[in-house]
Amino acid sequence: MNMKKVLSLLAAGAFAMFAFAGCGGDQAAAPAGGDKQAKVLKVGSSIDFPPFEFQDEGQKDYQGFDMDLIRAIGKEMGREVEIQNLGFDGLIPALQGKSIDVAISGMTINDERKANVRFSEPYYQSGLTMVVRQDEEAIKKFADLKGKKVAVQIGTTSAAEVKKIEGVEVKELNTPADCFMELKAKGVDAVVNDRPVNDYFITKNAAQGVKTLEEKLTAEDYGIAINKDNEELQKEINAALKKLKENGEYDKIFAKWFGEKK
Ligand code: GLN
Repeated sequence: MNMKKVLSLLAAGAFAMFAFAGCGGDQAAAPAGGDKQAKVLKVGSSIDFPPFEFQDEGQKDYQGFDMDLIRAIGKEMGREVEIQNLGFDGLIPALQGKSIDVAISGMTINDERKANVRFSEPYYQSGLTMVVRQDEEAIKKFADLKGKKVAVQIGTTSAAEVKKIEGVEVKELNTPADCFMELKAKGVDAVVNDRPVNDYFITKNAAQGVKTLEEKLTAEDYGIAINKDNEELQKEINAALKKLKENGEYDKIFAKWFGEKK
């Protein structure tokens, strides 16, 4: 009798422990802060901008500085990151239409864009430079572009800046790769594009027959773009970015893609 009672008590105890453990397990699996944070972070990027975002042939995952950074930010926020490849000029409309939560795409922070989206704190210092053919003699600086044909990526700061230079014929193409191809094919005399992307193109792709010029047309900061209504998300992104800068993770990602500390 006694033994039966002891056994049933033990069983009840074991059941309680099991139930408690199970419950604890569930709680641990649920992200802190409820399902708002459990949501996937929908990221848009124009995957044509090495070393910030690109896809190698035969590789499933998108690669690059921005891709590593946004994955690290997502991890910091406890959110799974899902990246969609969109045209650069489609990123702000996608944010406005809420089909994505954020855009990370080497996007320069400027006032015109600030009218439509929020930006995170700056995460990379960039600027515009120019690429010409190796044998180019006439173009040594931006002022020499008068009367010349220049390729730029559509919807970019390069497009906006080159249009300001008087007497330039501007060809707006879909990707920087299209611009470089056009330069080599002699359809244009120069390409204006972001400095780190030009440098990467020249060195990593062992681009032959072209050179990048020293002069910088602008200094620009990249930011992560967020829907204008979502101040909360902007704060969370900034907090995560700050944390990654403090804990050395940002520096690690930077060194991976640019070799040296900023
Ligand atoms: N930084 C430039 C801009 O914001 C180019 C960005 C890009 O082509 N991905 O317009």
